[in-house]
Amino acid sequence: MTTQEQIKQLREELHRHNYLYYIEDKPEISDYDFDMKLKELQHLEEKNPEFEDPNSPTRRVGGAITKNFNTVVHDYRMYSLSNSYSKEELEDWENRIEKSVGGKLQYVCELKYDGASISLTYKNGKLQRAVTRGDGFQGDDVTNNIKTIRSVPLKLKGDFPEKFDIRGEIVLPYEGFAKMNAERVEAGEEPYANPRNTASGSLKLQDSAEVAKRPLECLLYSLVADNLPVKSQFEGLEKAREWGFKVPPEAELKNSIAEVLDYVNYWDQHRHDLPYETDGVVIKVNSFDQQDELGYTAKSPRWAIAYKFKAEQESTKLNKITYQVGRTGAITPVANLDPVQLAGTTVKRASLHNADQIEKLDVREGDTVFVEKGGEIIPKIVGVDFTQRDPETLETKYAETCPECDSELIRKEGEAQHYCPNYNGCPPQIIGRIQHFISRKAMDIEGLGGETVALLVNANLITNYADLYTLKKEDVLPLERMAEKSAENLVSGIEKSKEIPFERVLFALGIRYVGETVAKKLAKHYKNIDALASASTEDLTAVDEIGERIAQSVTDFFTSEENRELIQRLKDYGLQFEIIAEELENQSTILDGNTFVISGVFEKVSRNELKKMIEDNGGKVSGSISGKTDYLVAGENMGPSKLAKAEKVGTKIISENEFLQMLS
Ligand SMILES: [Zn+2]
Repeated sequence: MTTQEQIKQLREELHRHNYLYYIEDKPEISDYDFDMKLKELQHLEEKNPEFEDPNSPTRRVGGAITKNFNTVVHDYRMYSLSNSYSKEELEDWENRIEKSVGGKLQYVCELKYDGASISLTYKNGKLQRAVTRGDGFQGDDVTNNIKTIRSVPLKLKGDFPEKFDIRGEIVLPYEGFAKMNAERVEAGEEPYANPRNTASGSLKLQDSAEVAKRPLECLLYSLVADNLPVKSQFEGLEKAREWGFKVPPEAELKNSIAEVLDYVNYWDQHRHDLPYETDGVVIKVNSFDQQDELGYTAKSPRWAIAYKFKAEQESTKLNKITYQVGRTGAITPVANLDPVQLAGTTVKRASLHNADQIEKLDVREGDTVFVEKGGEIIPKIVGVDFTQRDPETLETKYAETCPECDSELIRKEGEAQHYCPNYNGCPPQIIGRIQHFISRKAMDIEGLGGETVALLVNANLITNYADLYTLKKEDVLPLERMAEKSAENLVSGIEKSKEIPFERVLFALGIRYVGETVAKKLAKHYKNIDALASASTEDLTAVDEIGERIAQSVTDFFTSEENRELIQRLKDYGLQFEIIAEELENQSTILDGNTFVISGVFEKVSRNELKKMIEDNGGKVSGSISGKTDYLVAGENMGPSKLAKAEKVGTKIISENEFLQMLS
């Protein structure tokens, strides 16, 4: 097979597996195998740039930067739909159009997804262009970003027309949205407000690699071309599905508005079971001939109408405004409400976001307020029912001191949030920081949970994360519900965390705005904590993707004498504060299938490094010698019994130098 054929075959395979995974939800190969194939293709494409293809599956990982999005005129105008809010309005619409066409009509009902509208152009089965809705006449060319969305086919299959547009919506499923927000909160950033705005904001990001990281999906529902091979909307949906598009399965064909209303009522009840946000139903006349006959008004088609669900809103009494302190010291005002049923759950608390929001809404304790639940996880207050206001109520005065430690709150210029500045003395900040430190993506300390951290802090056993490394079994045993075994696990879990690599230790430190990704970037760039600690803000902003805000936060962190002391202590306990060798470059499969036992003390590398080197190169490390042990790496002061055992079972005994030679 020639290289060109090999590239072609890999591309086709990857397009197919992508389709099976993202559209059909029936993957045939593992994620790992998919990644391997993708890497192979990437490698071949890099070596053979003459076979470049803008629709290669490798383009999905992004990387293209768009400084200015070109304005593009739509070949076919993107109309907006007229809205209806009641059964009567829908019946009026049916009467109107039936009179105009002179007969009975069939309708297609589709759910109205809340996202960002998009128009995709395909030519000869390949994605040519992706344009935002804009003002309906012209939008922005966001092709590079759209290519990173896995459910957008780059290449079609079947009997597609030579050239056509297909329209739909870019949406962010609840689950992905919640995950993105959890990561932001963990990094001390403000969460995004709702999935729709986040989806539409994503389309205009300059770096397509950032878009690729977001779990966006593309749902399509409308074919547009001069000579479509179908005669109706419903057939169009089926065809689009055949060609490889993700067409929502909820679309249904209906024979009357009475049937349409059943559909509307059903989904008004069940929309919360869907993975995406929906705000209504779109009803379209099915036949294209009848659509043509009905035509358009100045703004919208006469043959389609949107039915909007009522917003999930309830009114209830606000009893009290309290304030929560986060691990970064950020204060969130919380409305404590009379319990109310909303979107299938009982709501007792709602977020008031910040002081500006309280002022804007003029919310007061004792008010009757409107609570809404959109895509947000936490419900929010959207307004006050002023007709119910008791004239005696007083304007809300925002908290001036921390509810937990009484420190005076501060608010930096240009920031919406108030902060408690008592970094080292405010209990929720101390507990929150340690909880973050031990969390799964950070130090991943087995045997220690968030509640135990609170117990340890409250019992004065620890006041910061460095104190964890001084804990002994006897210290923790007296704690509530702490058995012998769990105390042992806790202490050994803490000990084991000393092997966690630098980038995760850096993330664990809980520097504001330094999330997982930023920590990785900084670790890779600076290689060790001392280099990072002495970097200036200017120096930091020169690092790829590190902005002013992160840079300032990092230098602030290392300026603090207390933080420097903490890090020195952690260093003394043996935590990893530098990148071990050149992590990735030193990986291979040389030691595949070989089991090693390490014993004694070594001159050039530590035992942990040795262990990592073995594992990075495909070998296994075992604790004791058996017939399955291939090598014993023997250092100074090795126990004589191990040596004897190795000799007895025939394990090869090698020195540190001999081992290092095996790798080179
Ligand atoms: Zn405080």
